Amino acid sequence: MDFSLSENELEIVELVKEIADNELAPRMVEIDEASRFSWDNFKLLGNAGILGMLFPEKYGGTDLGYLAYSLSVEEVSRGDFNTGLTLSVHSMSALAILKFGTDKQKETYLQRLMTGDYLMAFVLSEPDFGSDAAGLQCRAEKVDGGYKLNGTKAWISNAEDAHLFVVWATLDPKLGKKGITTFIIEKDTEGIEVAKKEPKMGGEGTATNQIIFTDCFIPDDCLLGEEGRGLRVALNSLSGGRIGVAANATGVSQRALDEALAYSQERVQFDVPICEFQGIQWKLADMDTMIEAGRLLYQKAAYLKQYAGNDLDLDPIKEASQAKCFATDSCLHVCSEAVQIMGAYGYSREYPVERLMRYSKVTQIFEGSNEIQRNLIARELLKD
Ligand SMILES: Cc1cc2nc3c(=O)[nH]c(=O)nc-3n(C[C@H](O)[C@H](O)[C@H](O)COP(=O)(O)OP(=O)(O)OC[C@H]3O[C@@H](n4cnc5c(N)ncnc54)[C@H](O)[C@@H]3O)c2cc1C
Repeated sequence: MDFSLSENELEIVELVKEIADNELAPRMVEIDEASRFSWDNFKLLGNAGILGMLFPEKYGGTDLGYLAYSLSVEEVSRGDFNTGLTLSVHSMSALAILKFGTDKQKETYLQRLMTGDYLMAFVLSEPDFGSDAAGLQCRAEKVDGGYKLNGTKAWISNAEDAHLFVVWATLDPKLGKKGITTFIIEKDTEGIEVAKKEPKMGGEGTATNQIIFTDCFIPDDCLLGEEGRGLRVALNSLSGGRIGVAANATGVSQRALDEALAYSQERVQFDVPICEFQGIQWKLADMDTMIEAGRLLYQKAAYLKQYAGNDLDLDPIKEASQAKCFATDSCLHVCSEAVQIMGAYGYSREYPVERLMRYSKVTQIFEGSNEIQRNLIARELLKD
């Protein structure tokens, strides 16, 4: 497996690093404190071509592939975790259109999604169906010329700011998994209410809301893929999303290590910088090793995802889950160690690491909790 990058790929990853250092990192705390979506950051990604890295040139993309894309998600997240999460969720939602959409859907939406004029949200979870997403109850009743949607979705990132939703609903709950169907729906459609905003432990710069559909009529051409095949769309999107979360968590971990490393060289106790104590050095060494291992796992999954292309049978389910699980478990540990190295200053809201630690927790929960990732890994092992 070759993780080396072409000249084009290297160039964009270098550009993303510069953007992360110079534009995103200095504003991370301010944006999170303000508790609102940063259109400036999102447009910055669009203008730099970062939103189009997984998309063909004919739709305004740069088609650089999963390896360069996931490294870019890491870099963006190192600068600002909220923007990194948005990049990942937006890209996986837009990819569902590229993979399963009609030519008309691609032509209508992709270009706007690449430039950052349009933001997408991924609308799967429901108040009573999180891990058990296949049990979802939001109903899409077939009516003349389209479908009528009724039901409530929960915990939807960027629902307030997005223009376009990729939504999962069932044609009839009695059909079980065979009823699940995917739709592309504009947010300003009549019958959609973006409801309760969830107060969260961290990551306030990415709002998370409920969405309520009440007799929401959508025409037939909102169908994404085939009726009853929505679970395939969700699973394929989520394996890509999990690689994105692994990269997001790795970026957050790297930022925490960078902050702690710099602090340990400046902070003097017992007349020496604390980095001279072996107890601190071992923490730094373990943090770096965990980050590197998580990075390699997501690079492997990204390489295989790129190789799989549109062949759903080759989707690297196990590798994506391993990367997500390891990189996010590591992230909480690395961030906690960064706080520990910085002592009281690590615990202070005036330094960024307590914020990174609060945010790191959610990476173990969303895009499928780490318990569910372990179930998926075990299921793949037992298959053979
Ligand atoms: C900040 C945030 C943003 C989110 N963004 C989105 C989004 O944009 N779109 C979207 O659709 N969803 C989103 N989610 C929802 C997220 O995907 C779900 O929270 C997640 O899938 C877990 O579901 P749950 O919270 O309902 O937990 P539950 O499914 O109720 O699980 C509770 C606990 O039980 C464990 N558990 C459940 N089943 C099993 C099992 N079979 N074996 C072992 N343990 C199990 C879980 O791991 C967890 O620890 C977001 C969530 C958060 C917190």
